[in-house]
Order: sequence, then structure tokens, then C-alpha cells
Amino acid sequence: MELTELRGVGPARQRQLLRLGLTRAEDLVFHFPRAYEDRSVVKRLAEVQDGDRCSVLAHVATRPAAVRIREGMELLKFRIFDDSAFAEVTFFNQPWVKDRLEHGEAYLFYGSWEAFRGPKRVTNPSFERPGSPDAGAILPIYRTTAGLSQHVLGGLVGQAVERLAPGLEDPLPEDLRAAYQLVPLQQAIGDIHRPGSSAAVERARRRLVFEELLVLQLGLSRLGRHAPNETSVRIDPCDMTPFYEGLPFRLTDAQRRAVEEGLADLRRPVAMNRLVQGDVGSGKTAVAAALAYAAARSGYQTALMAPTEILAEQHLRTLSGMLSPHGIGTALLTGGLRAAARREALLDISSGRAAVAVGTHALLEEQAAFAALGLVVTDEQHRFGVAQRSRLAAKGDRPHLLVMSATPIPRTLALMIYGDLDLSVIDQLPAGRRKVETYVVDESMRPRIDRFIKKLLGEGRQAFVVCPLVEEGEDDRKAVQSYAKALGALLAPHRVEALHGRMKPAEKEAVMRRFAAGETAALVSTTVVEVGVDVPNAALMVVENAEQFGLSQLHQLRGRVGRGVHQSYCILLSRNRGERAMERLKTLCRTDDGFEIAQMDLQLRGPGDFFGRRQHGLPALHIADMGRDLEVLREVGEAAAQLLAEDPALEGPALRALRGRAEALFERSEISLN
Ligand code: ADP
Ligand code: MG
Repeated sequence: MELTELRGVGPARQRQLLRLGLTRAEDLVFHFPRAYEDRSVVKRLAEVQDGDRCSVLAHVATRPAAVRIREGMELLKFRIFDDSAFAEVTFFNQPWVKDRLEHGEAYLFYGSWEAFRGPKRVTNPSFERPGSPDAGAILPIYRTTAGLSQHVLGGLVGQAVERLAPGLEDPLPEDLRAAYQLVPLQQAIGDIHRPGSSAAVERARRRLVFEELLVLQLGLSRLGRHAPNETSVRIDPCDMTPFYEGLPFRLTDAQRRAVEEGLADLRRPVAMNRLVQGDVGSGKTAVAAALAYAAARSGYQTALMAPTEILAEQHLRTLSGMLSPHGIGTALLTGGLRAAARREALLDISSGRAAVAVGTHALLEEQAAFAALGLVVTDEQHRFGVAQRSRLAAKGDRPHLLVMSATPIPRTLALMIYGDLDLSVIDQLPAGRRKVETYVVDESMRPRIDRFIKKLLGEGRQAFVVCPLVEEGEDDRKAVQSYAKALGALLAPHRVEALHGRMKPAEKEAVMRRFAAGETAALVSTTVVEVGVDVPNAALMVVENAEQFGLSQLHQLRGRVGRGVHQSYCILLSRNRGERAMERLKTLCRTDDGFEIAQMDLQLRGPGDFFGRRQHGLPALHIADMGRDLEVLREVGEAAAQLLAEDPALEGPALRALRGRAEALFERSEISLN
């Protein structure tokens, strides 16, 4: 049905609706409220607490009088009462209110109440006569656009629901609804837009979330990601003793377990698809090295892809340190190589001379050809699209895949993003690690922080300072350089260097190398150090404008220190003194459990952090929220598995509608996962 078939929609309204992405009247039915104004809670004035949002049934006690405070600012003030107390009502710049309120009459006033000192007060409340349709109701609040009021939009949605909802077919079969206690679609649509109670909102929402996630899950499984991928790559069991004995440390039990799980996968005729999840510093690289060792022993190459050049270079150092004593050659391939070095790397890789190729996206380029690629490892996978991982895999004959991530994504989510995969968790840090002492401070602590940095550097330690760009488009070079200069003056004679995104890879590496070698005492950077950089003597991480980061990101940054024997510190500077901002950051003082932190991030910021659409390649969600709805997601996983077990092609008449949705979902979005 065309938008213009709705009463009150002409060309101007239509344009406003189009701006909201609503192209047909049907879309309005599925334009769900982003929040509700719950006016159903009615309190007596005496019960109202400071900060309450609620309704109060009260009489107008004094005749509303308008006062002009200054040009363009008019104040309307009057008193109301119920049988328990009096209160004051103020309206700013709403002169018409005067004519709608009658002295002595009772109204339901809804708003945010103030109740500290003096009489209780409310400003710009909404008010209705008792018994009118909106009085004491739970009102939807929609995402809207300039010129389109909540009232008008709500009216249009109501109209669309009234005319179209009765014709909607419920894609969820009845027995599924019964099994998971899901209300029928029409009821859900009715309740989500015009709920009679907050319980009704919850029921409606759960049902709609379930449907959305189920469609997504079925769509993903139809892409065939769950089919076992047979491979000819066979990596035989080998004696790992020389590798273990050559390491400068003993693997932790958790690392050992991850290696064993990986080795067991490698010898199977089905390509491994394994996620190694381990907090920062848990030693994931050694696990990758162990598997690369086994692959090399069977004549296969390993490709390890890292998100940044610095990280790729560091991995190369680590891996060649662990592998070259065993005669296993390595090569580095990054975008920043000079032509000659690049030619040589490509040749080493294509000839098989390098059994291990470490690199960035450069590994994906067409010229990068492998002699016998058997194992693909990606580090910090959530930064790579699924498609990139597949492109690298295509350089071999269905090689084994290992994904390393420090982001502890709940398993249900991991399944959704990566498809069917196995999980190894490294839930143990190498012995002797000390907790990084973490502080959240504001600007007033600056002098103390400066003294603290000086003191630590005086003891021979090193420091990272991270200063993110404050404004988009700001020149990171300037910002970082001027900061580094100021810090250098403060810390002289200690050397301070800057690292920023616009440096040439060779410059960056030189700076990192000087820092790693201890020639530089403090390193000031944007976020290029975020992932994986390892400098054991660094004992201090200072993060400026910490409020701009997600908690997981900060946790990763903090993981840059505390890697050696020294007590380490992390100082989070926040310009935002708001209680909530500070509270959020203080989570990091309380815990160093990456899983708990990620969970907190999900709750506070939503899934955007790990789930930028670009990163995971899943279609956008309308109502489900990967942070809030993990429990529903778990049920959906179970339901999808059962549906697919009973009817793998979803051909039965009861599933036709669901299948249609699942297919449409991935037709509309341009992504493909393989
Ligand atoms: P991440 O899991 O964050 O990638 P890394 O692999 O970079 O961690 O390892 C962090 C540091 O811990 C490195 O310096 C590494 O050499 C060291 N390391 C790894 N495993 C162990 C271990 N079992 N015992 C002691 N140190 C270890
Ligand atoms: Mg790492």
C-alpha cells in the first residue's frame, strides 16, 4: 500500500517518511517504537520522589498566570493539589496551556518530578483529562525526523496498523510459538505500538526479536556456512617436544589445551574452523606458532594475517624466534615494503621457502600466491570481514582456519558471526603476571599524574600515552606531535616520541623499535598501539579522553602494560565528569576479567563495538539487540537447529513464509559470506 493512501499523507509528509526509510505503508507497521513514555504509574503527590517519572491526578489550585521573563521567554506557573499535598507546575513558552487548563478541574499530570527542598515541582508536564485516550497510557516514542511530530507519526502508524495488521500472515508456525511461548504476530504488532501494560510490551518485543533473529539465523544457515568443509590438507601428528623445549617459557595449561584441540582438528579430513579466545596477554601467539610448527612438519605453509603493520611485524619477530631455530623459514608481507623486499617475500612464499607468511591485508593481494597453504590464522578477527578471511583461505585448497581474538564474544554471538565453529578458550594468564592497577581521574589530578610519570620513568620504566582524536577530521599528526612535544619538555631528559597514523610504515616501525629497545621512554600515539604490541618494560598506560573508548578497547589498551615483571599502572583520564561516564570507566578498576568487561560494554553501549556492520557483515537489525537479547538468541539457535533438522530445506508449508523472509534478507543486502 502506498504511503499516500494513508489519510493525511501528501507529498510533504511522504518525503518526511522517506527520510526515515519508510517507503510503503507496510513499513510503518514495522517502524517499532524506540522507547515508551509510561504514564500508567499514578502516584499521590505525597509519594512522589525526586526524579520520578510518573502521573499524578491533581486539581488545578490557582489560576495559571503568564509571566514574561524576558524577550521570547514566557513562564506559566500555577499550583496543583491532591488529597495528600500541593505541588508547583511550570510551563516554559507554552502560552496555549493556559486556555486548556480549567481552574478547579482535575488532570493527570505526567512528567519528571523534582522533590528536593521546597514543594514538589514539575516542568512542562503533559496533561490529560482522566478518561481521555492517552491519560495514564503507555505511549510509544518513535524515531522521527524534523517536521514530523511524535503525535502525527504515531497517528500514521496507528492508521497503518489498523488497516494492514489484520491481513498480516504470521511467519512463525503455531507449534513453534507454543513451544517458545510467543504471542501471535498480530497481537505483537498491536501491543508493541499501543501496549496496555509494560508486560504486554515485553511479550510483544520478545516475540518480534525472536522472529528477527530466527530469520537471520536461518538465512545464515542457508548460506551453507554450516556444511562441513572437506579438505585434502592433512597435517599429521608430529613430535612437538622440540618446539615446546625451544620456547623461552612453559606453556600454561590453557595454552596447552588450545594447542591440543587445534592439533586434533588439523589431522581430520574436515577443515578446522576454530576460534581461540584469550584475554590480552594470555599468549595466543604461541598457540598459533605451535600449529604452524605442526603444519610445517607436514610440508604445509601457514599464513598469519594481522590488522596492522606494527602487529604483523611483531608477530613475525615472535614467530621467527620460535620457529627459525627449527629450520622453519618466515616471510613478512605488508603494504609498506619496498619493491625489492616485496619481490623477495612474494618469491619466498610462492616457492615455499617461507613456511610461515605473516602480513597484513597485503596477503590478500592477487600476487601473493602460496606453494602449499595449509593453515590460515587471523589475529583479532573482529577487525576483518568474513569475506577477507575467505579470500585468504581461497589461496589454498580449503586450508584449516584459526581465528585469534581477545574479545570474549559470548558463544551464541560467535556462532552467529563466524558460523559453525569450535572454540578454545585460554582462560589463564601466564604465571607471575600482576594485576595492572587502574585509576579513573579527571583533569584536577593532572599535576599528580605528571609527577607519577616522572617517577616511573626515573625508575627505568616506560610509558604509553594514548590520545585519541577529539574531533573527527582533526589532524592526528598535529595532535599527537604537539602533545609529545609538551610531554617531552616536561619529562626531559627522557625521550618522548610520537606515533601516528600518517607515518610511513618504516617510520612507525623505527619508532616502535626504539621504544621496544628502551631508547624512548614514553610513546605518545593515537590508537595504533591498541592491538597486541608487546613491550615488557612498559609499566604505565595513560589514556587521555578515555570516555571516548569502549570498555573493551580500554581493556585492550591496558593489556599493553603488565607484560613484564614490573608492577604496572593504567590511568584513565576523563574530561567528562558525569557520574555515569565515571561509573562506566570505573568498571575497569574493579575487574580485569575481559569477559565481564565485554559484557558490560554490550549492556552499556550496545553491540556496535564488536558489531559495526562493516566488521561482521550481517544485515542490520530492527528490533533485536545483541547485547540485551542473548537469551532469546540462545533459544533461537536451538529452534533453528530443530527446524533445520526436521526440514533442512524449509520446504514444508508451515515454514514457507519463514524461508521467504530468510531468503529475502540476504538478497537485499549485497553481502555474501563466502
Ligand atoms: P596475546 O594473547 O595478547 O596475543 P601474546 O601472545 O602477545 O598475548 O603474549 C603476551 C606475552 O606473554 C608475550 O610476551 C609472550 O612472550 C608471553 N607469554 C606467552 N605465553 C607465555 C607463557 N606460557 N609463560 C610466560 N610468558 C608467556
Ligand atoms: Mg596478540
